[in-house]
Amino acid sequence: MSKGLLISVSGPSGTGKGSVLARVKEKDPNFGTSISVTTRAPRENEKDGVDYYFKSKEEFTKMLEEGEIIEYDEFVGNYYGTPTIPLQEMSEEGTDVLLDLTIAGSMALKENFEQSVTIFLLAPSYEELEKRLRGRGTDSDDAIDARLEMARQETNFVKDFDYVVVNDDIETAADKVLAIITAEKCRCARNVDMIEDVIKVNKEMEGN
Ligand code: 5GP
Repeated sequence: MSKGLLISVSGPSGTGKGSVLARVKEKDPNFGTSISVTTRAPRENEKDGVDYYFKSKEEFTKMLEEGEIIEYDEFVGNYYGTPTIPLQEMSEEGTDVLLDLTIAGSMALKENFEQSVTIFLLAPSYEELEKRLRGRGTDSDDAIDARLEMARQETNFVKDFDYVVVNDDIETAADKVLAIITAEKCRCARNVDMIEDVIKVNKEMEGN
């Protein structure tokens, strides 16, 4: 059986990653989810073991040292990491897994797993990104300016990703993500066993 794909979506804060990924999962509920480990405090409504595994810095470091975390990154003063075993198990059993990672996280995945697919999500424009960030009403003007500056820097990494999707509309962006996954599953390089079988049958038929 071929391995499940590890599809990682990254993008600056405010590009709508969470909403697009949620829509992708609504449209196709068969995706596996990787629940990350984080040292940040739970937000209201977040549950341990559902949204994240919430750990102390000491616990996180111990997991890292023991190889229980396959990639990790620091984001606004906290650590975020992907647990190794669930990811490997899901992929081995052929389940496609969607991941929401920082840019460095997607790059680490790309380096370590040939079954990875990295997608960069872009806002339609900086004006729109600014509108979205201000519209949230959760951050100060300074914090918004810092996020916009970070978004400009992060956007330079888009060229290192396999795909880029502009999120001008959640529905369309979710459809594009699904189309990318469908195309990736049809790659000849990902269907070597099936192709070998076809060739074998052809040879047998030639022999008759
Ligand atoms: P938040 O605190 O808003 O839930 O997440 C902050 C950032 O951490 C998001 O950009 C998200 O993509 C990223 N993130 C969440 N889990 C992981 C992980 O396991 N590894 C990496 N590299 N980034 C993660």
